[in-house]
Amino acid sequence: MIQITALPAFNDNYIWLLQNPATRQCAVVDPGDAKPVQDWLSANPDWALSDILITHHHHDHVGGVEQLKKATGAKVYGPASENIPGRDVALKDNDRITALGQDFDVIAVPGHTLGHIAYYQPGRLFCGDTLFAAGCGRLFEGTPKQMYTSLSRLAALPEATQVYCTHEYTLSNLRFAAAVEPHNPDTLERLSNVTRQREAGVITLPSTIALEKRTNPFLRTSVTSVKEKADERTGNDNSAPDMVFAVLRAWKDTF
Ligand code: ZN
Ligand code: FE
Repeated sequence: MIQITALPAFNDNYIWLLQNPATRQCAVVDPGDAKPVQDWLSANPDWALSDILITHHHHDHVGGVEQLKKATGAKVYGPASENIPGRDVALKDNDRITALGQDFDVIAVPGHTLGHIAYYQPGRLFCGDTLFAAGCGRLFEGTPKQMYTSLSRLAALPEATQVYCTHEYTLSNLRFAAAVEPHNPDTLERLSNVTRQREAGVITLPSTIALEKRTNPFLRTSVTSVKEKADERTGNDNSAPDMVFAVLRAWKDTF
């Protein structure tokens, strides 16, 4: 059994710490900063960091890699097509890795960056800046169509899959979701829950694929009212879901 802990970093990043209590080995996903990880290791001296999983090349995801690798000798996994500091294993779509005695499948999810990958095992998904709770990453490198396809692949995972994304953006994402779907009761209920959680300083992750399908507008581009909202914005007929996605993404960029 793997236990998962969120180590907060910077303003709104989470570094996911995966722990195997049987072996006292642990792994981290996207350590943008080494310090929160090294502080945890210092406080838990009988644990060893064995693996570092990277989703994409942005500094807030890789900034701590070299220092952690130097201090612990951990093995670094990352996307083959991006420049990842200290990378030992270069990954592409459909690769499988074993870390902490667990298998993880690699899913290519271009859009936020072109080489972005996610790590999946039955029950959990580590998706970096691709699928957020109630939102999705900005399109820094990819096209709307690429991101739409990537999100569709993630949405097709089992509904109970827990979604571990890298940022605490849930509240602002839900405010946007409520603007897109002012009459979606699931969205409004989640907005009020998350508002309370954030007032109490509580983490809003992980999410689930089921909850995202009910409340994340970027996964709901086939819903008639969402399409009509996009049409209202652009004044034309956005006849395909990836066109609706592009409108929503551009709208969110300035929301
Ligand atoms: Zn990023
Ligand atoms: Fe990020």
